[in-house]
Amino acid sequence: MTPGVTPHSPERTCVQCGRTAGKPSLLRIAGRPGSGWEPDPESRKPGRGIYLCRAAECVGKFAGRIRTAKGAARWKMGVEGSLLADKVSAWWAAESERNAGGVDG
Ligand SMILES: [Zn+2]
Repeated sequence: MTPGVTPHSPERTCVQCGRTAGKPSLLRIAGRPGSGWEPDPESRKPGRGIYLCRAAECVGKFAGRIRTAKGAARWKMGVEGSLLADKVSAWWAAESERNAGGVDG
């Protein structure tokens, strides 16, 4: 459904499992320390990007990690970590609903 994909699309690394994949197959999280973070699935926002597999395991583990002070400190998120965790979880819930039907156990 995405005819514009080029063979040279840059690869990014999932911060959770370390797998590399083309940008379109990863979820970008945009932001910078001090100004807030949010899911940026269309890669339009400025700022630093964090990439995650669009997979329940990576999204779920990442959200759990940034809810903790230690996990959030990895990206200097502070209290914004738990705000972002909520946004990421909400995004994932909506995304999973859209993709419902092809779920394996
Ligand atoms: Zn991953």
